[in-house]
Amino acid sequence: MTDRAKPLPQLADVKAYVPGEAPKSCGGPSYKLASNENPLGASPKAKAVYAEMASKLEIYPDGTAKDLKAAIARKHGLDVSRLVVGAGSDEIFLMLARAYLGPGDESISTEHAFAIYAIIAQQQGAKAVEVPEKNFTADVDAILKAVTPRTKIVWLANPNNPTGTYLPYDEVKRLHAGLPSQVLLVLDGAYAEFVRKNDYASGIELASQSDNVVMTRTFSKLYGLAGLRVGWGYAPAHVVDAIERVRMPFNVNLPAQAVAMAALEDEAFVEASLAHNDSELERLVREVRALGLEVIDGVGNFCVVKFPEMKGKPAAEALAYLKDRGVTVRGLGGYRMPNHLRISVGTVAGNNAALKLLTEFLDG
Ligand SMILES: *Cc1c(COP(=O)(O)O)cnc(C)c1O
Repeated sequence: MTDRAKPLPQLADVKAYVPGEAPKSCGGPSYKLASNENPLGASPKAKAVYAEMASKLEIYPDGTAKDLKAAIARKHGLDVSRLVVGAGSDEIFLMLARAYLGPGDESISTEHAFAIYAIIAQQQGAKAVEVPEKNFTADVDAILKAVTPRTKIVWLANPNNPTGTYLPYDEVKRLHAGLPSQVLLVLDGAYAEFVRKNDYASGIELASQSDNVVMTRTFSKLYGLAGLRVGWGYAPAHVVDAIERVRMPFNVNLPAQAVAMAALEDEAFVEASLAHNDSELERLVREVRALGLEVIDGVGNFCVVKFPEMKGKPAAEALAYLKDRGVTVRGLGGYRMPNHLRISVGTVAGNNAALKLLTEFLDG
Protein backbone atom coordinates (compact mmCIF):
# COMPACT_ATOMS: atom_id res chain seq x y z
CA MET A 1 0.00 0.00 0.00
CA THR A 2 1.24 3.48 -0.79
CA ASP A 3 1.34 5.99 2.04
CA ARG A 4 -1.69 8.21 2.29
CA ALA A 5 -2.03 11.67 3.78
CA LYS A 6 -2.98 11.34 7.46
CA PRO A 7 -5.28 13.85 9.15
CA LEU A 8 -4.38 14.95 12.68
CA PRO A 9 -4.92 12.02 15.04
CA GLN A 10 -7.45 13.86 17.25
CA LEU A 11 -9.86 14.11 14.31
CA ALA A 12 -10.62 10.39 14.66
CA ASP A 13 -12.70 11.24 17.78
CA VAL A 14 -14.72 14.03 16.21
CA LYS A 15 -18.38 13.25 15.65
CA ALA A 16 -19.92 15.41 12.96
CA TYR A 17 -22.55 17.92 14.08
CA VAL A 18 -26.05 16.77 13.12
CA PRO A 19 -28.12 19.70 11.83
CA GLY A 20 -31.92 19.94 11.86
CA GLU A 21 -33.57 18.29 8.88
CA ALA A 22 -35.52 20.11 6.20
CA PRO A 23 -39.05 18.70 5.87
CA LYS A 24 -39.92 16.58 2.89
CA SER A 25 -42.83 17.73 0.82
CA CYS A 26 -45.90 15.58 1.27
CA GLY A 27 -48.21 17.36 -1.13
CA GLY A 28 -49.51 19.77 1.53
CA PRO A 29 -47.66 22.41 3.51
CA SER A 30 -44.54 21.28 5.36
CA TYR A 31 -42.77 22.83 8.34
CA LYS A 32 -39.23 22.78 9.69
CA LEU A 33 -39.38 23.04 13.47
CA ALA A 34 -35.93 21.54 13.87
CA SER A 35 -33.38 24.39 13.99
CA ASN A 36 -34.82 27.19 16.17
CA GLU A 37 -35.06 29.51 13.18
CA ASN A 38 -37.23 32.61 13.25
CA PRO A 39 -40.72 31.57 12.04
CA LEU A 40 -41.39 35.14 10.87
CA GLY A 41 -38.37 35.02 8.56
CA ALA A 42 -36.07 38.05 8.54
CA SER A 43 -36.72 41.77 8.79
CA PRO A 44 -38.09 43.23 5.50
CA LYS A 45 -35.51 46.03 5.85
CA ALA A 46 -32.74 43.45 6.13
CA LYS A 47 -34.01 41.67 3.04
CA ALA A 48 -34.01 44.93 1.08
CA VAL A 49 -30.39 45.56 2.03
CA TYR A 50 -29.48 42.02 1.00
CA ALA A 51 -30.94 42.67 -2.47
CA GLU A 52 -28.92 45.89 -2.78
CA MET A 53 -25.74 43.99 -1.98
CA ALA A 54 -26.06 42.05 -5.24
CA SER A 55 -24.41 44.99 -7.02
CA LYS A 56 -21.35 44.88 -4.73
CA LEU A 57 -20.33 41.25 -4.80
CA GLU A 58 -16.96 41.92 -6.41
CA ILE A 59 -15.86 44.00 -3.39
CA TYR A 60 -14.07 42.51 -0.39
CA PRO A 61 -15.85 43.08 2.91
CA ASP A 62 -14.36 45.35 5.57
CA GLY A 63 -12.25 42.83 7.45
CA THR A 64 -12.50 44.85 10.65
CA ALA A 65 -16.32 45.05 10.36
CA LYS A 66 -16.01 48.60 11.66
CA ASP A 67 -19.57 49.73 10.92
CA LEU A 68 -21.21 46.57 12.18
CA LYS A 69 -19.21 46.68 15.41
CA ALA A 70 -20.09 50.35 15.86
CA ALA A 71 -23.78 49.52 15.41
CA ILE A 72 -23.62 46.67 17.95
CA ALA A 73 -21.71 48.86 20.41
CA ARG A 74 -24.27 51.63 20.08
CA LYS A 75 -27.20 49.26 20.49
CA HIS A 76 -25.89 47.60 23.62
CA GLY A 77 -23.79 50.42 25.11
CA LEU A 78 -20.49 48.58 24.66
CA ASP A 79 -16.84 49.46 24.17
CA VAL A 80 -16.31 48.89 20.45
CA SER A 81 -12.66 47.86 20.91
CA ARG A 82 -13.78 44.79 22.85
CA LEU A 83 -16.12 43.43 20.16
CA VAL A 84 -15.33 40.53 17.86
CA VAL A 85 -17.53 39.31 15.02
CA GLY A 86 -17.69 35.90 13.41
CA ALA A 87 -19.41 33.90 10.71
CA GLY A 88 -22.01 32.89 13.27
CA SER A 89 -21.20 32.60 16.95
CA ASP A 90 -19.90 29.13 16.07
CA GLU A 91 -16.91 30.80 14.43
CA ILE A 92 -16.24 32.80 17.58
CA PHE A 93 -16.19 29.56 19.60
CA LEU A 94 -13.83 28.09 17.01
CA MET A 95 -11.53 31.12 17.17
CA LEU A 96 -11.47 30.89 20.97
CA ALA A 97 -10.61 27.21 20.72
CA ARG A 98 -7.88 27.86 18.16
CA ALA A 99 -6.40 30.53 20.40
CA TYR A 100 -6.64 28.73 23.74
CA LEU A 101 -6.98 24.95 23.32
CA GLY A 102 -4.31 22.50 22.23
CA PRO A 103 -3.35 18.90 22.88
CA GLY A 104 -3.29 18.18 26.61
CA ASP A 105 -5.71 21.02 27.44
CA GLU A 106 -9.25 20.56 28.68
CA SER A 107 -12.47 22.45 28.20
CA ILE A 108 -15.62 21.83 30.21
CA SER A 109 -19.23 21.76 29.10
CA THR A 110 -22.29 20.15 30.64
CA GLU A 111 -24.07 16.86 29.99
CA HIS A 112 -26.72 18.19 27.59
CA ALA A 113 -24.80 21.24 26.33
CA PHE A 114 -24.78 22.53 22.76
CA ALA A 115 -22.72 19.99 20.77
CA ILE A 116 -20.35 22.43 19.06
CA TYR A 117 -18.24 23.03 22.19
CA ALA A 118 -17.06 19.43 22.48
CA ILE A 119 -16.59 19.11 18.72
CA ILE A 120 -14.24 22.07 18.43
CA ALA A 121 -12.31 21.15 21.57
CA GLN A 122 -11.65 17.72 20.04
CA GLN A 123 -10.67 19.26 16.71
CA GLN A 124 -7.94 21.12 18.61
CA GLY A 125 -6.75 17.90 20.23
CA ALA A 126 -8.02 19.05 23.63
CA LYS A 127 -10.12 16.92 25.95
CA ALA A 128 -13.84 17.74 26.02
CA VAL A 129 -14.84 17.19 29.64
CA GLU A 130 -18.60 16.84 30.12
CA VAL A 131 -20.08 17.18 33.61
CA PRO A 132 -23.50 16.09 34.95
CA GLU A 133 -26.47 18.44 35.03
CA LYS A 134 -29.25 18.61 37.59
CA ASN A 135 -32.75 18.51 36.22
CA PHE A 136 -31.51 19.23 32.68
CA THR A 137 -29.83 22.38 34.03
CA ALA A 138 -26.12 23.23 34.33
CA ASP A 139 -24.78 22.50 37.82
CA VAL A 140 -22.26 25.08 39.00
CA ASP A 141 -20.78 22.78 41.65
CA ALA A 142 -20.25 19.96 39.15
CA ILE A 143 -18.50 22.36 36.76
CA LEU A 144 -16.23 23.74 39.47
CA LYS A 145 -15.37 20.23 40.64
CA ALA A 146 -14.19 19.30 37.14
CA VAL A 147 -11.69 22.17 36.87
CA THR A 148 -8.05 21.02 36.75
CA PRO A 149 -4.76 22.81 36.03
CA ARG A 150 -5.30 21.80 32.39
CA THR A 151 -8.72 23.51 32.11
CA LYS A 152 -8.62 26.44 29.68
CA ILE A 153 -12.27 27.13 28.82
CA VAL A 154 -15.67 26.59 30.48
CA TRP A 155 -18.52 26.77 27.96
CA LEU A 156 -21.98 27.70 29.17
CA ALA A 157 -24.93 28.30 26.89
CA ASN A 158 -27.35 30.38 28.92
CA PRO A 159 -30.10 29.54 28.14
CA ASN A 160 -28.89 26.19 26.88
CA ASN A 161 -29.85 24.45 23.66
CA PRO A 162 -31.26 21.78 23.45
CA THR A 163 -32.70 21.82 27.00
CA GLY A 164 -33.98 25.43 27.05
CA THR A 165 -33.09 25.80 30.73
CA TYR A 166 -31.07 28.71 32.15
CA LEU A 167 -28.92 29.61 35.12
CA PRO A 168 -29.94 32.67 37.14
CA TYR A 169 -27.33 35.43 37.06
CA ASP A 170 -26.38 34.81 40.70
CA GLU A 171 -25.40 31.27 39.75
CA VAL A 172 -23.37 32.49 36.76
CA LYS A 173 -21.56 34.90 39.09
CA ARG A 174 -20.93 32.10 41.58
CA LEU A 175 -19.48 29.99 38.76
CA HIS A 176 -17.24 32.85 37.69
CA ALA A 177 -16.12 33.51 41.27
CA GLY A 178 -15.14 29.87 41.67
CA LEU A 179 -13.02 29.67 38.51
CA PRO A 180 -9.26 30.28 38.52
CA SER A 181 -8.49 33.56 36.75
CA GLN A 182 -6.67 31.83 33.89
CA VAL A 183 -9.80 29.85 32.89
CA LEU A 184 -11.99 31.57 30.30
CA LEU A 185 -15.73 31.47 30.96
CA VAL A 186 -17.61 31.61 27.64
CA LEU A 187 -21.25 32.63 28.09
CA ASP A 188 -23.17 31.77 24.93
CA GLY A 189 -26.21 34.03 24.80
CA ALA A 190 -27.68 32.75 21.53
CA TYR A 191 -31.17 32.81 23.10
CA ALA A 192 -30.62 35.70 25.55
CA GLU A 193 -33.17 38.02 23.95
CA PHE A 194 -36.00 35.50 24.38
CA VAL A 195 -35.66 35.17 28.16
CA ARG A 196 -38.38 36.78 30.27
CA LYS A 197 -37.01 36.22 33.78
CA ASN A 198 -36.04 38.82 36.35
CA ASP A 199 -33.16 36.74 37.68
CA TYR A 200 -31.55 36.32 34.24
CA ALA A 201 -28.75 38.33 32.63
CA SER A 202 -26.77 37.49 29.51
CA GLY A 203 -23.46 38.36 31.15
CA ILE A 204 -22.58 41.60 29.33
CA GLU A 205 -21.79 43.15 32.71
CA LEU A 206 -19.60 40.23 33.75
CA ALA A 207 -17.77 40.32 30.41
CA SER A 208 -17.24 44.08 30.87
CA GLN A 209 -15.85 43.82 34.37
CA SER A 210 -13.75 40.67 34.35
CA ASP A 211 -10.59 39.60 32.68
CA ASN A 212 -11.73 36.06 31.86
CA VAL A 213 -15.35 36.24 30.62
CA VAL A 214 -16.47 36.24 26.97
CA MET A 215 -20.12 36.68 26.09
CA THR A 216 -21.39 35.76 22.62
CA ARG A 217 -24.58 36.57 20.75
CA THR A 218 -25.94 35.69 17.34
CA PHE A 219 -28.04 37.08 14.50
CA SER A 220 -29.18 33.53 13.70
CA LYS A 221 -32.12 33.18 16.07
CA LEU A 222 -34.13 36.28 17.00
CA TYR A 223 -32.94 38.26 13.96
CA GLY A 224 -33.71 35.44 11.54
CA LEU A 225 -30.35 35.55 9.74
CA ALA A 226 -29.11 31.99 10.30
CA GLY A 227 -28.40 31.60 6.60
CA LEU A 228 -26.07 34.61 6.50
CA ARG A 229 -23.86 33.54 9.46
CA VAL A 230 -23.23 36.48 11.78
CA GLY A 231 -22.43 36.40 15.47
CA TRP A 232 -20.52 38.63 17.87
CA GLY A 233 -18.66 38.42 21.12
CA TYR A 234 -17.72 40.80 23.91
CA ALA A 235 -14.38 40.00 25.47
CA PRO A 236 -11.53 41.45 27.52
CA ALA A 237 -8.93 43.30 25.41
CA HIS A 238 -6.31 40.55 25.73
CA VAL A 239 -8.81 37.94 24.46
CA VAL A 240 -9.81 40.19 21.54
CA ASP A 241 -6.10 40.42 20.72
CA ALA A 242 -5.74 36.62 20.71
CA ILE A 243 -8.85 36.17 18.55
CA GLU A 244 -7.55 38.72 16.05
CA ARG A 245 -4.44 36.59 15.61
CA VAL A 246 -6.40 33.50 14.52
CA ARG A 247 -9.19 35.29 12.66
CA MET A 248 -9.29 34.97 8.86
CA PRO A 249 -9.10 38.47 7.35
CA PHE A 250 -12.59 38.55 5.77
CA ASN A 251 -14.49 36.16 8.04
CA VAL A 252 -17.85 37.96 7.94
CA ASN A 253 -18.94 38.48 4.35
CA LEU A 254 -20.08 41.72 2.75
CA PRO A 255 -23.86 41.12 2.59
CA ALA A 256 -23.80 39.62 6.09
CA GLN A 257 -22.30 42.76 7.63
CA ALA A 258 -24.70 45.13 5.89
CA VAL A 259 -27.79 43.01 6.50
CA ALA A 260 -26.98 42.46 10.18
CA MET A 261 -26.80 46.24 10.65
CA ALA A 262 -30.20 46.69 9.04
CA ALA A 263 -31.63 43.89 11.18
CA LEU A 264 -30.29 45.48 14.35
CA GLU A 265 -32.13 48.71 13.56
CA ASP A 266 -35.50 47.12 12.74
CA GLU A 267 -37.01 47.22 16.21
CA ALA A 268 -40.53 46.62 14.96
CA PHE A 269 -39.52 43.27 13.48
CA VAL A 270 -37.65 42.28 16.65
CA GLU A 271 -40.65 43.17 18.79
CA ALA A 272 -43.04 41.25 16.54
CA SER A 273 -40.72 38.23 16.69
CA LEU A 274 -40.54 38.36 20.48
CA ALA A 275 -44.30 38.81 20.87
CA HIS A 276 -44.88 35.84 18.57
CA ASN A 277 -42.45 33.70 20.53
CA ASP A 278 -43.95 34.68 23.88
CA SER A 279 -47.47 33.70 22.92
CA GLU A 280 -46.69 30.66 20.76
CA LEU A 281 -44.17 29.12 23.17
CA GLU A 282 -46.70 29.44 25.97
CA ARG A 283 -49.42 27.90 23.80
CA LEU A 284 -47.21 25.08 22.53
CA VAL A 285 -46.15 24.11 26.05
CA ARG A 286 -49.71 24.30 27.38
CA GLU A 287 -51.16 22.21 24.56
CA VAL A 288 -48.41 19.60 24.63
CA ARG A 289 -48.92 19.23 28.39
CA ALA A 290 -52.66 18.87 27.78
CA LEU A 291 -51.80 15.82 25.65
CA GLY A 292 -50.33 14.26 28.79
CA LEU A 293 -46.68 14.73 27.82
CA GLU A 294 -44.00 16.20 30.08
CA VAL A 295 -42.34 19.40 28.90
CA ILE A 296 -39.09 20.84 30.26
CA ASP A 297 -39.56 24.44 31.47
CA GLY A 298 -37.57 26.30 28.85
CA VAL A 299 -37.03 29.98 28.14
CA GLY A 300 -35.80 29.98 24.52
CA ASN A 301 -37.68 29.67 21.23
CA PHE A 302 -38.36 25.94 21.44
CA CYS A 303 -39.93 23.38 23.73
CA VAL A 304 -38.55 20.02 24.79
CA VAL A 305 -41.03 17.19 25.14
CA LYS A 306 -40.58 13.86 26.88
CA PHE A 307 -42.18 10.76 25.40
CA PRO A 308 -43.14 7.79 27.57
CA GLU A 309 -40.72 4.92 27.05
CA MET A 310 -43.02 2.23 28.28
CA LYS A 311 -46.31 2.83 26.51
CA GLY A 312 -45.16 2.06 22.98
CA LYS A 313 -44.94 5.75 22.10
CA PRO A 314 -41.22 6.44 22.06
CA ALA A 315 -39.69 9.71 20.90
CA ALA A 316 -38.03 8.09 17.88
CA GLU A 317 -41.41 6.96 16.56
CA ALA A 318 -42.97 10.36 17.14
CA LEU A 319 -40.05 11.95 15.25
CA ALA A 320 -40.61 9.62 12.29
CA TYR A 321 -44.41 10.03 12.40
CA LEU A 322 -44.14 13.81 12.16
CA LYS A 323 -41.40 13.68 9.54
CA ASP A 324 -43.41 11.40 7.27
CA ARG A 325 -46.25 13.92 7.45
CA GLY A 326 -44.21 17.02 6.62
CA VAL A 327 -43.07 18.33 10.03
CA THR A 328 -39.47 17.95 11.15
CA VAL A 329 -38.51 18.41 14.80
CA ARG A 330 -35.21 17.55 16.47
CA GLY A 331 -34.35 14.16 17.92
CA LEU A 332 -32.04 14.43 20.93
CA GLY A 333 -30.40 11.00 21.03
CA GLY A 334 -27.05 12.63 20.34
CA TYR A 335 -27.57 14.79 23.44
CA ARG A 336 -28.14 11.87 25.81
CA MET A 337 -31.87 12.62 25.75
CA PRO A 338 -33.21 9.75 23.63
CA ASN A 339 -36.73 10.09 25.06
CA HIS A 340 -37.06 13.79 24.27
CA LEU A 341 -37.79 15.76 21.12
CA ARG A 342 -37.13 19.47 20.66
CA ILE A 343 -39.83 21.42 18.83
CA SER A 344 -38.93 24.92 17.64
CA VAL A 345 -41.64 27.55 17.92
CA GLY A 346 -42.98 27.85 14.38
CA THR A 347 -45.65 29.91 12.68
CA VAL A 348 -49.15 29.46 14.10
CA ALA A 349 -49.85 27.08 11.20
CA GLY A 350 -46.63 25.14 11.82
CA ASN A 351 -47.32 24.79 15.52
CA ASN A 352 -50.89 23.71 14.79
CA ALA A 353 -49.61 21.08 12.38
CA ALA A 354 -47.17 19.73 14.98
CA LEU A 355 -49.85 19.64 17.70
CA LYS A 356 -52.34 17.91 15.41
CA LEU A 357 -49.81 15.25 14.41
CA LEU A 358 -48.75 14.69 18.02
CA THR A 359 -52.38 14.22 18.99
CA GLU A 360 -52.90 11.68 16.19
CA PHE A 361 -49.66 9.91 17.07
CA LEU A 362 -50.65 9.50 20.71
CA ASP A 363 -54.20 8.40 19.83
CA GLY A 364 -53.08 5.98 17.12
C1 LIG B 1 -28.10 28.35 17.46
C2 LIG B 1 -27.08 28.43 18.53
C3 LIG B 1 -25.96 29.23 18.39
C4 LIG B 1 -25.80 30.12 17.21
O1 LIG B 1 -24.98 29.63 16.29
P1 LIG B 1 -24.59 30.55 15.04
O2 LIG B 1 -23.27 30.00 14.67
O3 LIG B 1 -24.49 31.95 15.57
O4 LIG B 1 -25.65 30.37 14.04
C5 LIG B 1 -25.04 29.29 19.41
N1 LIG B 1 -25.23 28.60 20.54
C6 LIG B 1 -26.31 27.86 20.74
C7 LIG B 1 -26.50 27.19 22.04
C8 LIG B 1 -27.26 27.73 19.73
O5 LIG B 1 -28.32 26.96 19.90
